[in-house]
Amino acid sequence: MFCPVCNGIVDMQVPCLSCGGTVTDCGRLSDWTGPYAPYEPADAGAVGSASSIYAEADCCHAVYCPSCQQTSEAIVTQWE
Ligand SMILES: [Zn+2]
Ligand SMILES: [Zn+2]
Repeated sequence: MFCPVCNGIVDMQVPCLSCGGTVTDCGRLSDWTGPYAPYEPADAGAVGSASSIYAEADCCHAVYCPSCQQTSEAIVTQWE
């Protein structure tokens, strides 16, 4: 299983939830560790956290909409 967006095979194709515009992929949400990260890094050992609502088959990305100047998240289904 691998994420096609993480591997650069396809571009992030999820529209902005607010304006429907094109968003910029900011990488895996779990890779965000800096002070500007919108979310806490996912703890692989955590049980019952918000991140557990996502299936393991999905890759959770942070995306940025330049029109709304907002960061949100998008779920990418990984490929076999
Ligand atoms: Zn990914
Ligand atoms: Zn937008």
